[in-house]
Amino acid sequence: MELSDKEWKDRLTKERYWILRKKGTEPAFSGEYHNFKKQGIYVCAGCGNKLFRSEDKYDSGTGWPSFTSPYRGNAVEYAKDKKLFRSRTEVLCEHCKGHLGHVFDDGPPPSNKRYCINSLALHFEETT
Ligand code: FE
Repeated sequence: MELSDKEWKDRLTKERYWILRKKGTEPAFSGEYHNFKKQGIYVCAGCGNKLFRSEDKYDSGTGWPSFTSPYRGNAVEYAKDKKLFRSRTEVLCEHCKGHLGHVFDDGPPPSNKRYCINSLALHFEETT
């Protein structure tokens, strides 16, 4: 899915545009989903692609919604991010290439992954 920068601006709120298209980071504990425990699926706020499920969400204490694995292997893709002093792995939506957050190796077993994701990059869909 490819949209022009103007189309993304028209489609997203300012805050979501800044995260998804400009690789921004919301302040810790500011988002809608860091302390959110409903059962359902988290989809991309840019394109609706299914990204994470509530079963894989855990409380990392970081102030960002954290997951141990993506919805399916190819729901997200990865890129090297060398913006800070250490290199990190960026997580992007596979479908629209929107920036979601980063993944770290300090999560709980068995995956030991911590997908640290901006609430503003997500939209929650409740399952009943
Ligand atoms: Fe997307």
